[in-house]
Amino acid sequence: MSDCIFCKIVAGQLPAKKVFEDEDLIVFHDINPVAPVHLLAIPKKHIESLAAADGEDALVMGKLLHVGSRMAIEQGCTDGFRTLINTGRVGRQEVYHLHVHFVGGPDVLPPMLKR
Ligand code: AMP
Ligand code: ZN
Repeated sequence: MSDCIFCKIVAGQLPAKKVFEDEDLIVFHDINPVAPVHLLAIPKKHIESLAAADGEDALVMGKLLHVGSRMAIEQGCTDGFRTLINTGRVGRQEVYHLHVHFVGGPDVLPPMLKR
């Protein structure tokens, strides 16, 4: 996807503060953090969204959670963190390349959703 900003990060055409990279995924700091720790875990493969993922993507999706959580702890989320995936228009997804947010730090997060 030539106009996808996360594919550009994968290709090294855009800079990112990476904390982990292997053949399947990258974990890097969100450019506009909402908390002291805000990481994004993305597959190197362009998958538009969680809704667009298929069975063959299951392995990398598991790795995003596993490696992302290890990195969140390493970055200081030793007392927990929040994991979030925005999907599609209703989920207010802004970047259409699957990514998992890991948000935390010393401050207490607000409740997930207001009732
Ligand atoms: P979402 O609303 O789930 O699609 O979130 C997209 C996230 O990507 C936002 O939190 C942005 O701050 C973040 N973002 C956008 N561009 C970049 C970039 N070049 N490097 C790091 N994070 C980015
Ligand atoms: Zn992409």
